[in-house]
Amino acid sequence: PYTAALPDTDALRILAAKSLNRCGAEPPAEGDSGDLVCRTPVTGGTLFFLPCAGPDQIDSAVTTAHATFSTWRTTPAPQRGRLVKRLGELLVEHKGDLADLITLEAGKIRSEALGEVQEMIDICDFAVGLSRQLYGRTMPSERPGHRLTECWHPLGVVGVVSAFNFPVAVWAWNTAVALVCGDTVVWKPSERTPLTAVACDALLARAAADTGMPAGVHQLVLGDRATGERLVDDARVALVSATGSVRMGREVAPRVAARFGRCVLELGGNNGAVVAPSADLDLAVRGIVFSAAGTAGQRCTTLRRLIVHEDVADQLVDMIVHACHRLPVGDPFAAATLVGPLIDAQAYEAMTQALERARADGGKLLTGGEPRLRDEAPQARYVTPAVVRMPTQTEIVRAETFAPILYVLTYRTFEEAIVLHNDVPQGLSSSIFTRDQREAERFLAVDGSDCGIANVNIGTSGAEIGGAFGGEKATGGGRESGSDAWRAYMRRATNTVNYSAELPLAQGVAFL
Ligand code: NAD
Repeated sequence: PYTAALPDTDALRILAAKSLNRCGAEPPAEGDSGDLVCRTPVTGGTLFFLPCAGPDQIDSAVTTAHATFSTWRTTPAPQRGRLVKRLGELLVEHKGDLADLITLEAGKIRSEALGEVQEMIDICDFAVGLSRQLYGRTMPSERPGHRLTECWHPLGVVGVVSAFNFPVAVWAWNTAVALVCGDTVVWKPSERTPLTAVACDALLARAAADTGMPAGVHQLVLGDRATGERLVDDARVALVSATGSVRMGREVAPRVAARFGRCVLELGGNNGAVVAPSADLDLAVRGIVFSAAGTAGQRCTTLRRLIVHEDVADQLVDMIVHACHRLPVGDPFAAATLVGPLIDAQAYEAMTQALERARADGGKLLTGGEPRLRDEAPQARYVTPAVVRMPTQTEIVRAETFAPILYVLTYRTFEEAIVLHNDVPQGLSSSIFTRDQREAERFLAVDGSDCGIANVNIGTSGAEIGGAFGGEKATGGGRESGSDAWRAYMRRATNTVNYSAELPLAQGVAFL
């Protein structure tokens, strides 16, 4: 099987420093010390050490963001849009640099890394348009001579906590929208992807300087879970937008609720696709393999469960196994590679253990799960995507293992497929492959998929920014990105204006 040779860590360190420099960020020196070990999954080698933000730095970042908010909120929204417009231009200019950093730190293949930067550019465009469309409603008042309206005001400081697998797109979803909404941002990126964060922070600072906007609208705090905890506990942070595992959300949500803060939670998924007997199988295989093996199975929307009608199961599974087996695994910088590395050894351990559990539950491994490039890079973790046929939806299938494992289940009746599909704790993304309109519509209907995203004849991953993104149940219920997700970043004020000389009370109440 294809495996591309790997670059060495020294070459990657030089590439990281050059990319950072071009983005206007000071690269860490090789001898620098710090608690944050910056590794590349491409070789598993260490690139740099960076300092974690201590309690004082976190406090000062929130203080600056909080102070800047008082002027930022009164800057007209279309003017705030100018900052985001400039950021978008700089992202276009540095698309290649940021994509290099994403590949270096998250291990994404080139085209997906470029796609992630494109997503940032797209959300900037969206947010610039939004800066003139933060609409409120006008409602008919029940009282004569009264006007009833609502308007949306900036909320405050938004704390963004992000995951390693979309190191910068998720930040852009939050930050571009939060900034036009009049909020300021403090970002705690994943401890596994600090360099992309340093580069984005520098680009945003440049955008602020170029447009004469206050630099304090954005603050970066590097660090691990402890840094995140300190940020989310700060009562001056009005909204915590946290992306990561269900475990993280379970910890963050009650802490923020205890101080009556707001949360947007974007947590784990366990995404399923139903394949009906009428499906176009060639099209389905392409959608399924991209969703299951793309980003080496490390997307929140990765397809993890395939629910196939028993009449087409054998044929479809053969096609998928054939396609997965031939996927080029290796250096994510190489043009031909489609599957890059897992983020670290822990992810590989989790995958191996899940496959063992699945086997113990009666599952049959049809392909994949083999390590690759162990001699060339003993510290990196490359693996071939696994396909496992399961007799039933056991506990391991109901859990999200953040690695490329596709479990295959079969169904007989459509009702059975829907029950199986929804019978997991998470509710992020879902899809159905069918040419039967009744099935497609039923899947999208109230008693169909219970996920925040439900697709027909495409896979579960690769959402566009125009729609609201997020999921139900243990996925946390948050929505980000397009549609009206911006409302979570603002506070609503309902206004009643009496322009008459009378004072009628609502509901016909009589008083004075
Ligand atoms: P993770 O939960 O380990 O970490 C995510 C972020 O949360 C990191 O910045 C981390 O430092 C921080 N964090 C962890 N515990 C915290 C705590 N108690 N308080 C404050 N901050 C804390 O997740 P990961 O391994 O980086 O990312 C993979 C997970 O993220 C998967 O479960 C994936 O499905 C999920 N994810 C979800 C979405 C979505 O939009 N729903 C998008 C991307 C990733």
